[in-house]
Amino acid sequence: MTKQAAQRPRGAQVRAAQVLPALHTLYPDAKTELAFRNPFELLVATVLSAQATDVSVNAATPALFAAYPDAHAMSLAQPEDLEPLIRRIGLYRGKAKNLAALARLLVERHGGEVPNDFDAVVALPGAGRKTANVVLSNAYGYPAIAVDTHVGRLSRRLALSVQTNPDKVEADLQTLFPRDRWVFLHHALILHGRRVCMARRPLCGACVMNTFCPKVGVE
Ligand code: SF4
Repeated sequence: MTKQAAQRPRGAQVRAAQVLPALHTLYPDAKTELAFRNPFELLVATVLSAQATDVSVNAATPALFAAYPDAHAMSLAQPEDLEPLIRRIGLYRGKAKNLAALARLLVERHGGEVPNDFDAVVALPGAGRKTANVVLSNAYGYPAIAVDTHVGRLSRRLALSVQTNPDKVEADLQTLFPRDRWVFLHHALILHGRRVCMARRPLCGACVMNTFCPKVGVE
């Protein structure tokens, strides 16, 4: 048994086997709610979605992509050119800076394409492990679990993980769920976190997982 597996809450494997069918019943077609037409748009939308809602990102990206349809076009932009187009999204100044730098790197190192390579995406400005997992799983079918605030919170409430570090939560979930369900799992957990198991006042009484969920940390 690995050290990480040894730290998993008691009964986590049994609960994981209950969580998956429950999520399949609720969200059979779970997928990202970010709007995109190609890997570049998905990468940009994912960078913009950090600490912001998908709704706010989807409201901004049509105009952004009309003005800057690909990495080559965006690589010529200065952050100040991008700011007015994304100013309704949280942390827009930092994100504009990252997008301009990211587009330049895509052109310089990857011919303007989003690389199908985890380490290369992680190395892009404004990207990180979560962004790489979202982009590679949705754009290229890479098996990945992107741990955002919803996935982390639900993993702890359902006692699938005791970890607060997203990378460690991801490692726990990878040991509990079949690899071919990882992409579905993170999308379904995100939807459940938005619709039922919200950070404040989760709707436990109406939740299909109420019978087996230990509700760790829920008051
Ligand atoms: S029972 Fe409550 S804490 Fe558990 S997953 Fe459902 S809403 Fe979240």
